[in-house]
Amino acid sequence: MEKPRPVIGPDNAFFWEGCKRRQLVFQKCKSCGHVRWPPAHVCPKCLEYDWEEIVSSGQGIIYSYVIYHFPYHPGFREELPYVVALVDLMEGPRVLTNIIECDSSALACDLPVEIVWDEEGEIPIPKFRLRKA
Ligand SMILES: [Zn+2]
Repeated sequence: MEKPRPVIGPDNAFFWEGCKRRQLVFQKCKSCGHVRWPPAHVCPKCLEYDWEEIVSSGQGIIYSYVIYHFPYHPGFREELPYVVALVDLMEGPRVLTNIIECDSSALACDLPVEIVWDEEGEIPIPKFRLRKA
């Protein structure tokens, strides 16, 4: 079975277009400056509509993580075990992602990570790896 792929609609098309350019793009509120994730019509902080795109540095820290030993989706069976993490990006958003290219015993909360693009599918998927000091 194949892995699930992005479902692209009018609300998140900007994000996936950014991924095609290998840029992690977020919405920044033009009124209060809040950088929001996931995509939304209105700013959750000030309820204004106007926003602009910002390109993330792709750098952040691990907020939390788990190691999956069970294939909750059959498309990921070949990946086991793999790491699912919450990463806090420097720009503010907390994203649900994977940490790859690492020995999972080296992981810890608050470690710095950087973006790496998973090129397996039609659209590059943003994932993260430990950042070397
Ligand atoms: Zn706002």
